[in-house]
Formats: sequence, structure tokens, C-alpha cells
Amino acid sequence: MSFYSKPTTKFSRRVRERVEAEHSVEEDTRRELVRLYREEFGKMPEIVTSAPGRINLIGEHTDYNGGYVLPVAIDRRTYTAAGRRMGDLFIAFSKELGKKTSFEIQPGKFEHSNFWVNYIKGACTLLNEMKQVKGLNFAIASTVPRGSGLSSSAAYVVSIIEAVTRLYGIGLKDTDVPILAQRIENEFVGVQSGIMDPFVAKFARADNAILIDARSLDFKYVEMPRECSLLVCVTGVKRAIATTEYNKRRQQCQDAVAAISEKLGRPLQSLRDVDESELTPLHGKMDQVLYMRALHVVTENQRALRTFDALGEDDLSLVGKLMLESHLSLRTNYEVSSPELDAYVEIAEQLDGVYGARMTGAGFGGSAICLVDSAKESELANEIAAKYRGKGFEGGQVFMARTGGGSQVER
Ligand code: ADP
Ligand code: MG
Repeated sequence: MSFYSKPTTKFSRRVRERVEAEHSVEEDTRRELVRLYREEFGKMPEIVTSAPGRINLIGEHTDYNGGYVLPVAIDRRTYTAAGRRMGDLFIAFSKELGKKTSFEIQPGKFEHSNFWVNYIKGACTLLNEMKQVKGLNFAIASTVPRGSGLSSSAAYVVSIIEAVTRLYGIGLKDTDVPILAQRIENEFVGVQSGIMDPFVAKFARADNAILIDARSLDFKYVEMPRECSLLVCVTGVKRAIATTEYNKRRQQCQDAVAAISEKLGRPLQSLRDVDESELTPLHGKMDQVLYMRALHVVTENQRALRTFDALGEDDLSLVGKLMLESHLSLRTNYEVSSPELDAYVEIAEQLDGVYGARMTGAGFGGSAICLVDSAKESELANEIAAKYRGKGFEGGQVFMARTGGGSQVER
């Protein structure tokens, strides 16, 4: 990777005690998984792998436009315990879903009733095209909340890929892991997700955010300033329209590329190739909705780059300001926010000790994030949660997120 920088540890030293407490939750999950595997399959797993969930600091709906994203992995992970078995059968057990199912590699068979197993089927089917993959046992356990915009799906699928490639000695390059994970979600699960989620699940480093150029897949790290903490504000809502609206936004961005390209008289590959100064004169001269979508993407790319620099300079006020601008743009220009997400941001904005807040992930529910003064983090987490309930919203949850590292072999 061309602009790799060495991560440091100033963030982790400060929070060691808390991190140790949280590690024990992860340790317990891992241990319980091995116990369950033994109970289900009558022997120890040959391997246990894990991959983290993530929050995107900024750069939302930019990855499929060839732009920039700036996520961090969180210290909540999905664990896969796996081992080879005789024959061609694959058996998978998910602790969280309390479900067990079996399958053989048969391309094209999408499971509606056991939706979650399509990720494993996809991984085994595509890896089998590289080198023969025979029967396997899997047990999965996770501390990443599902369907909350924290990318439990990428954590899950990346941990599966890491396990299968090692058990069958498949020499997949590190950079090909997220690409394969994206293909699995696109082709086997039917979600047109971008590259960001599996990329951060693979390459994240604790204490660091990672700026990813979604076009070239170059990436570089920036250390998180020590004075700040991240709060995750889960809405507890995932709107059914999320997937259709997501796909609609992707289409609108393509249509915007065609419209802008025609107006500018030059070919464009994606919205990444448009500057704000070129776009704004087109206001009123092209379809208004397409203009708004493009305006979000073009300005959001700039915000992601500026946030990366601001983090490097420990300029948390600027980071917070850019986060709020991002939220506003997602709400008014990209129209993917929701009353719950807006409520969290409005609440946070008014509190002392909050640098900034925004929705994170695709929108229409999921989660918001707040960047806060670490000296006040628990106080603010409680206050935000109480105010959210006070506005009549139910099912919310606010928690402090530590940064985590990318996928790894646990044992
Ligand atoms: P998100 O990635 O934001 O959490 P998605 O809808 O993309 O939401 O992914 C959630 C889906 O991923 C679940 O419905 C399930 O199919 C699968 N999944 C995630 N974690 C697990 C798990 N621990 N066990 C089984 N399936 C899981
Ligand atoms: Mg997902």
C-alpha cells in the first residue's frame, strides 16, 4: 500500500483499564464459542478467527462513488470456530441466532429461510473455485449488534474467509479478502454493499482510523487523538425501505454521472471525478434530485479528506464541525436520515463536551455516532440515552466504543 503509516499507542494507554474490562467480554465470547463448538461437533475447533464491526467516522455513501471513507473498527467482534469434517457436508451453527443448518456446495441455491447461511455458502463456493474446499464445521458467535449499521455482516463474512483459507491452505492475498467478501454479499446475499465494510474488517488497527480510497484501494492510518471517545447511539430501528433506497441512491449517482458528464462535455468515471466548483454552476441546469445527490457525494469526499488531516492535527473542533456538516448533507441532500438519527444528533449537538455527531452507515435507522470529550464519556452516554427516551423513542442504546484491530487468528 502506497501511503502506509506506522500506528502508535497513545490512545490505548489512557484507556487500558476499561479496555481490559471490555476484553473480558470478548474473551468470554471466544471461550463460550469453543465450548459450544465442542458440544455441537464433539471435538475442539482447528481454528478460531475473528473480525471487527466498524463505525464510519465520515465519508458516507462515497465508497460506491469511487471516493473516500474514514472508518474505525470497534472492539466488538465476530468469532468463527471451524474445523474440517469427513465428506462434503458443511454444518454451521450461529450462537446469536440459535440456529444450526447444513448444506453442500451447490452454486445458485439461495436460502430464504436460513438467510444467514448464504454468507458461509458464498465463501465456501467462491473459495472452492480457487482450491478444493471440502466439508467443514462452523460455529459463530459475535458481540457486534446485528442490523445496527455497525457492519456485523462484514465482520461475519471476513472471519469466515479467514478460517476457510487457512484450513485449506488457500493463498488468498490480504487485499483480495475484502474484494471476495464484497462479492459474497453482492452475489450470494443480494446486498449491493460497497468495499468499505470488509476492507476495515480486514485492515483496521486499534487506536487508528483508516482513510480508504475506494477507487484505488490505497489506504493510510491516522491515530485517534487521545482526548476523544466515540459513542455509538443505536436507534434500534432498521427500516424495510433501507435496501431499496440504498439501491436507488446508487442508481441516482450513476444517472448524475451521466448528466454531469454531458453538461461538462467530458467523460466521467464516477462522482469522484467532479469538483464542487464544477458542480455548483449546474444548479438549476440539471435534475434537482440528481444535483442534490451529487452535491452530497462531492462535498462528503472533501469532508473525509479534511477530517483525516484534522485528526492528524488533533483538531477535534474541526472534526466535530465536519461531522455535523456531513449529517446535514445526508439529511437534506442525500435524504437517508431518519427521525431517530436526527434526534440523536440534535440532542448531542446541544451538550457540552460533544465535538460532533452524525448518522453512520447507510441510514434509515441503524446508528449515529458522537465524538466526545473522553473525560465526560459515561456521563454523556447516559444523558444522550435519557434524552432520546425522553423524546419518546424506544429501543435505543448508547455505548462507548473503543477502536479495534482487523481480522486475526485467535487460536
Ligand atoms: P449490518 O451489517 O449493518 O449489521 P446487515 O443486514 O448487512 O446489517 O447484516 C446482518 C445480517 O448478517 C444478519 O441478518 C445475518 O444474516 C448476518 N449475520 C451477522 N452476524 C451474524 C451472526 N453472528 N450469526 C449469523 N448471522 C449473522
Ligand atoms: Mg452489513
